[in-house]
Amino acid sequence: MTTAMDDGIEHFPGFSTRALRVGHDRTAEGEHSEPIFATSSFVFASAAEAAARFSGDAPGNVYTRFTNPTVQAFEQRLNALEGGAGCVATASGMAAILTMALGLLKSGDQILASRSLFGSTSMLFDKYLARFGIQTRYVPLDDLDAWRAAIESDTRLLFLETPSNPLAEMTEIAPLAELAHQHGCLLAVDNCFATPALQRPLEWGADLVIHSATKYLDGQGRCLGGAVIARDPAVIAEVFGVVRTAGPSMSPFNAWVFLKGLETLSLRMRAHSEAAQQLAEWLAAHPTVTKVHYPGLTQHPQHHLIGRQMQRPGGILSFEVGGDRDAAWRVIDHTRMLSITANLGDTKTTITHPATTTHARLTPEERTAAGITDGLIRIAVGLEDIADIQADLARGLK
Ligand SMILES: *Cc1c(COP(=O)(O)O)cnc(C)c1O
Repeated sequence: MTTAMDDGIEHFPGFSTRALRVGHDRTAEGEHSEPIFATSSFVFASAAEAAARFSGDAPGNVYTRFTNPTVQAFEQRLNALEGGAGCVATASGMAAILTMALGLLKSGDQILASRSLFGSTSMLFDKYLARFGIQTRYVPLDDLDAWRAAIESDTRLLFLETPSNPLAEMTEIAPLAELAHQHGCLLAVDNCFATPALQRPLEWGADLVIHSATKYLDGQGRCLGGAVIARDPAVIAEVFGVVRTAGPSMSPFNAWVFLKGLETLSLRMRAHSEAAQQLAEWLAAHPTVTKVHYPGLTQHPQHHLIGRQMQRPGGILSFEVGGDRDAAWRVIDHTRMLSITANLGDTKTTITHPATTTHARLTPEERTAAGITDGLIRIAVGLEDIADIQADLARGLK
């Protein structure tokens, strides 16, 4: 765990500066790039020092399941970018959500969640947390009245993604934070699609931010990782207790890759957004395309949040080619360059058919309710030349 006290952010008001400079405490070797501390444990000067570190009376590293300098550098940097009181890195994005739940919820508590969630997140809630007496109910993401009506006395956590996967639905965070706090609940926002370069949920009142570092924080599709950031030091301490004890810890090598990723996050998110905007406009004008879901288009229902809550519309769009699966598969199968893969947030453009992959575990009725038609295709727009991406899609759209 890392808290805001040790990250020195007061020295660096600029986002890009923080992304480059926070978290590296240069060693006596004078290295310029952050070192990887590939060690599982740390050596003590004496038995007394070992005892003091184990008890927490003395600061310092003990064992990499608890803390590691490279992992802490990543935590400090991401915490500084989100504006949190502390950050805990985890082995994956799903591990971040599980760790948060284990740290903050108990049997009998309820989660109130957006209906538009990453598939594994709803599976974690419905299949696994439910076994331990934590029930989840779902409401439409952008329906504040529905959230208000669904809160009960046992509700402890509100959970959402904005923008959501794969339809890029959005909602205003501030009113939901206010609602959560009126009822003594915490609001957690999965900020995977926006990243802190485009949106900082804590500034709008959220209590927790979740990341799959696997996506844009890495940015080049290399490593799995996740993180929880909180506005309250007591909250992050509970989450840290779970990582330290249960062990869903981030590896130092992965932390190093994510540190390097954060250095270019701001640049990449600008480039992804510009490319996705161009592609969305091109698709919207294409005769074969029946609908485009992208927050940068004026017809998007929450387009007004762009430039306010979210600085740019991001790199992910989805579009429909009529209602049937064959038409969608034809577009996907005619590509030669785009990668047919479920990952997103990579410099290489990826293309996915949500109904038969990421959302295949939902029933057809659940998919219809979530707006995921058989003709829907999701693209995470990478950094190739936009003309090449268009040419690759044009073949199947003919
Ligand atoms: C990928 C993803 C996750 C899970 O992250 P992993 O690193 O794959 O475990 C959670 N939320 C969203 C929105 C995601 O896209």
